[in-house]
Amino acid sequence: MDLNVKKELITVVVPCYNEEQSLPYFYDEISKVMYLMREYDFEIIGIDDGSKDNTLNELIALSNKDNRVKYISFSRNFGKEAAIYAGLSHAKGDYVVMMDADLQDPPSLLPEMMNEIQKEGIDSVATRRVTRKGEPPIRSFFACLFYKLMHKISQTEIVDGARDYRLMTRQFVDSLLELSEYNRFSKGLFGWVGYRTTWLEFENVERVAGETKWSFWKLFKYSIEGIVAFSTVPLAIAAISGVIFCMFAFIFIIIIVVRTLLFGDPVAGWPSMICIILLIGGIQLLSLGILGEYLAKTYLEVKNRPIYICKKTNIEKKE
Ligand code: UDP
Ligand code: MG
Repeated sequence: MDLNVKKELITVVVPCYNEEQSLPYFYDEISKVMYLMREYDFEIIGIDDGSKDNTLNELIALSNKDNRVKYISFSRNFGKEAAIYAGLSHAKGDYVVMMDADLQDPPSLLPEMMNEIQKEGIDSVATRRVTRKGEPPIRSFFACLFYKLMHKISQTEIVDGARDYRLMTRQFVDSLLELSEYNRFSKGLFGWVGYRTTWLEFENVERVAGETKWSFWKLFKYSIEGIVAFSTVPLAIAAISGVIFCMFAFIFIIIIVVRTLLFGDPVAGWPSMICIILLIGGIQLLSLGILGEYLAKTYLEVKNRPIYICKKTNIEKKE
């Protein structure tokens, strides 16, 4: 082999939140893959997302053992999206791949992904799970519902079962980084930047150690975030229901006036009145709530706070 030829660099971005148990397994797996792909240089960026366990020490130990391992440690838990952003913005690679620390994104898929991205005109290789084996049925049900809804109300394509496990070219990553919004919903951002993406499918794998960080409630909030970030249809729903109710009211006014003129005005209709007041009151509050949700996001966005705060890292600033 010609030693003067500079190898291309692949950056592996790994968000870690309380992953002290999975990290050793992860490192073993990724080492095997790095050995298989010796024709590339590697850099692993582990992001300690304010873990409460020994994740940071584990990362530091790995980086002492292997100088390809870098770490960024946050001052608190900022969420996976912030971790992804930090990883991407520190990545120096010609290619960048993101994967979970729990081996649910099998590193062994990387050679195949690399083959795909070499093909003409392909800018990213994404993965989706074809099964949701091992997941609570109720969670799968709501996940499917969410993707169906998103498909209807958003112009940005968001693929069902898509994981954040994705290999990207430098150009793709730079485009992602240009989207510097505070409320980051990566699954949508990937679609938004465009380019050509190939999808690889794999069977769901259960996490190797530790437990999932997603409670049902957290996922619910995350899905609302996704909807607010990538669709304004809910706002239109508020406006449209307003118009429909005005039309109904108008028709009722005419009916009541005519009826009173013809038949006099006996007092009746107390129960129906209460129903109508409650219904309209409810719709008003709902619309206000929807409006509030968008306003809140706008508020957070204009504050322009940093997406994460780094407490400790062994990465030098990019020149
Ligand atoms: N994660 C993170 N910050 C968080 C939650 C999760 O960095 O606030 C990381 C976590 O360490 C893991 C990945 O995101 O590497 C996916 O998390 P998890 O396995 O809990 O999600 P699931 O696979 O169940 O969707
Ligand atoms: Mg997982």
